Order: sequence, then C-alpha cells, then structure tokens
Amino acid sequence: MQIHISREDEYLYQGKRKRLVEQLKEKGITSQAVLNTILKIPRHLFFDQSTERPALLDHAYSDKALKIGAGQTISHPFTVAFQTEKLNITKGDKVLEIGTGCGYQTAVLLEMGAKVFSIERQRELFDKTKIFLPLIGYKGAKLIYGDGYKGLPQFAPFDKIIVTAAAPYIPQDLLSQLVIGGILVIPLGEGEEQVMNVIIKKSGTEFVKQAFGKFKFVPMLQNKE
Ligand code: SAH
Repeated sequence: MQIHISREDEYLYQGKRKRLVEQLKEKGITSQAVLNTILKIPRHLFFDQSTERPALLDHAYSDKALKIGAGQTISHPFTVAFQTEKLNITKGDKVLEIGTGCGYQTAVLLEMGAKVFSIERQRELFDKTKIFLPLIGYKGAKLIYGDGYKGLPQFAPFDKIIVTAAAPYIPQDLLSQLVIGGILVIPLGEGEEQVMNVIIKKSGTEFVKQAFGKFKFVPMLQNKE
C-alpha cells in the first residue's frame, strides 16, 4: 500500500495549530496537557489525502470534521479535545479506544503517555492506519481489527475507555472491562446529534453518569466490515 505523506509541516502548520489551540481555549478546553498535545500533532497528515488534498491547507486546522476515507470522518478538534479532557489521562493509563479511524485520537492519547489499544471495524481504514501511524512516528499503539461493542476482553481491564462513534446504548462489555474508578467517555444517541456521556465506575455494580453537550459522530455499527 502506498501512503503519501507531505512533510511541509513547520511554520505554516505550526501557526495554524496555534490559532486552533486558541479557539479550543475560547470554547472551554482548559487542560494544558490536551492543548499542548494538539499543538504538537500534525493533524493535516491524517486526512484522506486523495480526496481532501486541495482543501487541506484551509481546513486541516479549522474546527471541522473531515473525510478520512471509507465514508468516515476525523472528529472535530474540539470533540477530540473535549473527550480527551474528560478522560483525565495520566501517564501510563491503559486506554481502550473504539473507532481508530485515521488514528488522530490514537496519536493524541499516545502523545499524552497512555498505553493505547484501539479497535476499528472497517478493514480499509484499519489497514491504512496500521501502516500510517508508525510512519509518522506514533509507534506502540496496539491496533485491532474488530467490533468495539465487545471491547477487548483479552487485554482488560482498562483505566479509561473512549468511544469515538455514536453508540445507541452503553455496551455492557465496555463497562465490565473498566477498572474500579475507571472512566468511559461515550457519545450516546441515534439521531443527528448525540449527547456526550462520562461514566465513572464506582464499584462492580455502581456507576455515576454525567451528560454533557451535543456532538456529531458517525454511528457505531455492529460487527466487522
Ligand atoms: N477516533 C477516530 C474517529 C473516526 S470516526 C479518529 O480520530 O479519526 C469513528 C470510527 O469508528 C470510524 O472509523 C468507524 O469505522 C469506527 N467504528 C464504528 N463502529 C465501530 C465498532 N463497532 N467498532 C470499532 N470501530 C467502529
């Protein structure tokens, strides 16, 4: 497989990232660790460069969702920042991500020092991202082709779980694969918009759920493709 990577980062893109981080702050992101991470990662490399190339310069660092191939989108930077902030990552956290997509969120988690396991159900995206992430220096994530509804029992428990597709309900398997004190961040709903939910596991049977604002995600689908 051939993946074209433009390395025209520096200056131009760095300036754009600085402005993006300012926007994220204005929209309410306060975690300096999250902001520093977004400032560092070359988001423009993550798009489907065959379809998005002409728009790349203008859109890579605007707060927009963009195509990453296979009919999927990379989440808005604000969404990535918001979910990551809610995960409250500390170095060494074992994190499960559902919906690897282009790997941008995976890179954010790696950059923050997490040990990342990420599941993608679309073969095309899985194959592409598995090659792409190490190519741009993000090694060490365990990427799995599979169905996120089931989680990853063989690697459980996880300190944190992040779902990056719209789930119609909270998958029981994900709750059971969290440590006590663990956090699940998941957008819930089947309509155009979903509500971000943060669930903290208090004991084997007790959970505290908090709902936040509305977001837009592609649907979390059953089974592999
Ligand atoms: N975190 C990604 C977001 C991609 S969009 C990024 O930073 O780019 C959501 C992704 O979830 C899509 O790639 C979609 O194929 C995937 N997805 C949807 N349902 C899934 C499931 N049941 N298991 C694993 N991945 C799923």
